[in-house]
Amino acid sequence: MQRTDCCVVGGGPAGMMLGLVLARAGVPVTVLEKHDDFLRDFRGDTVHASTLKLLDELGLGERFAAMPHRVLQRLHVPLTVGTSLVVDLGLLPGPHKHIAMVPQWDLLDLLADAGRREPSFTLRMGVEVTGLLREHGRVVGVRYRDANGRDGELRAAVTVACDGRTSAVRSASGLRVREFGAPLDIWWFRLPRREVDVQGFNLWEGDGARLVGIDRGSYFQLGFQIRKGSDARLRAEGIEAFQRRIAALAPEFADRIGAVDSWDDVKLLTVRLDRMPRWFDPGLLCIGDAAHAMSPIAGVGINLAIQDAVATARYLAAPLRRGDVRLGDLVRVQVRRWAPTCVTQSLQQLVHRHVIQPVLAGELGQGGSGPRRPSRLARLLRRYPRLQAIPAYVVAIGLLPEHAPSFARRSSSS
Ligand SMILES: Cc1cc2nc3c(=O)[nH]c(=O)nc-3n(C[C@H](O)[C@H](O)[C@H](O)COP(=O)(O)OP(=O)(O)OC[C@H]3O[C@@H](n4cnc5c(N)ncnc54)[C@H](O)[C@@H]3O)c2cc1C
Repeated sequence: MQRTDCCVVGGGPAGMMLGLVLARAGVPVTVLEKHDDFLRDFRGDTVHASTLKLLDELGLGERFAAMPHRVLQRLHVPLTVGTSLVVDLGLLPGPHKHIAMVPQWDLLDLLADAGRREPSFTLRMGVEVTGLLREHGRVVGVRYRDANGRDGELRAAVTVACDGRTSAVRSASGLRVREFGAPLDIWWFRLPRREVDVQGFNLWEGDGARLVGIDRGSYFQLGFQIRKGSDARLRAEGIEAFQRRIAALAPEFADRIGAVDSWDDVKLLTVRLDRMPRWFDPGLLCIGDAAHAMSPIAGVGINLAIQDAVATARYLAAPLRRGDVRLGDLVRVQVRRWAPTCVTQSLQQLVHRHVIQPVLAGELGQGGSGPRRPSRLARLLRRYPRLQAIPAYVVAIGLLPEHAPSFARRSSSS
């Protein structure tokens, strides 16, 4: 029978950060990740200012800065159909006045490398959790299947579900989740990028269509927003119809959209927005997307997942070291992270309702009027530019930003 103090299910942003911070407290922690590596595409790429600050506190800021990444200094804040405000992130307080964009596998590799330096850290790749172990109404660990198809059990004082939006642990726990619905799904694809092309994050909005583009140096990672549930119908229209749509929306891609000549190059990502009313059970805690799946709007999901992980490590490190984790310790994590989660999801719902849904319903160009008149809020923010620091702060730093506990802090040279 294998044993650890904390079993972390899932090696995404939440799981890797939790594993690292707990290991720095000297807590024996095992992260189980079902994939063999972190090299999966179409995951969020944004590292927000509050996460950059956290990396500094963990002594990882210099190593992060040395990784190839792009920097986003301005933010498109969608306000109404067809109008968005470009907010200058230079208004942010603190040392990082930007959002960094780095393929997520690079960030996860950085956290994994830092974790492996800690003697109490174990990362097991290619291990999929298949169920929960329970004794006397308490979760006491997990069942898993490893890369060789062998089944095993890992017992732990606490199991933390960081296994994302389709959390197997959450399903096995029987804990409830509340779905809020989302009006969109996303088709992800890539197109070559040239040096003269636009940089950073870009948005193209047209009649019934929205396209977002992340500049990854030699190529664009593009997300075409489609109406929820319309994937099969649109695919049936043929790849040429897709190419025409993209060329009409972003004419600068007309000369290279032919590079996407098969539906195999276009991946569907189903968008979900949901939240568990209760994130815990005796011996079990859910955090990150497992507890609250985030919409891609404003690209804040990684940030929230990482903030949840830091709060979890702060509240659980001492009880884990004492060998006495109580339900109240798990409750404190949810209490701390509840407001930032609910407020952020409510703002995403507002954008879904007032911006995405009308655009995807084709309302943007109705009556040939083109983009609508800026809303009162947009006019206010334009008139008093200092107020733009508020949306900049909410997106790039977030509510109740977490800081590395003292036991996890290192200087960058260590
Ligand atoms: C289309 C789309 C675009 C997005 N873009 C952005 C963006 O640009 N920026 C941003 O911040 N957020 C973005 N998000 C949201 C973001 O991806 C998530 O909020 C964030 O990744 C959540 O992190 P997490 O660690 O909780 O879960 P995940 O990142 O989902 O990580 C879960 C991990 O658990 C592993 N796992 C799953 N099941 C098991 C199992 N049974 N056993 C073991 N391991 C398991 C998975 O392989 C994965 O590695 C986007 C979301 C969508 C849908």
